[in-house]
Amino acid sequence: MRISDVIRNKGNAVVTVRPDVDVRHLLAVLAEHHIGAAVVSSDGRVIVGIVSERDIVRALADRGATVLSETVSTIMTAAVRTCLPDAHIEELATIMTEGRFRHVPVLKEGQLAGIVSIGDVVKSRINELEVERDSLSSYIRAAST
Ligand code: AMP
Repeated sequence: MRISDVIRNKGNAVVTVRPDVDVRHLLAVLAEHHIGAAVVSSDGRVIVGIVSERDIVRALADRGATVLSETVSTIMTAAVRTCLPDAHIEELATIMTEGRFRHVPVLKEGQLAGIVSIGDVVKSRINELEVERDSLSSYIRAAST
């Protein structure tokens, strides 16, 4: 399955925050949307970073609660690994495993066009495996009658 299929199913909405908002605001956004990461962008289209709950935990452990008043740009990851819509879901699973992150934004013509999480990858692999299992079961049943 390709990333474009995943995006077609789940939609292309991506929660973004501006780099100059504070971490307290970021926490509210993550809680409101029940998500673990947000793409950092000034205009909602061009990516300048990604920030996840892990960045908040790390910064809190390093510097304490003063982090809540710092801007998102101080804790985000600026070197974002992205993918294209025609990438395969298996490629993304490898990228996430090797990079040890759970979110990959999708870019189309250089602009934000969706985001895939580890949850989306697992869901799509389970669906594929269920389809394979059902067709193998039908094949075995047909062969034994
Ligand atoms: P996550 O597992 O997505 O919560 O992120 C773990 C760490 O990787 C955090 O420091 C994130 O800022 C960073 N991160 C998350 N997604 C990406 C990505 N696509 N490219 C680069 N770094 C990322």
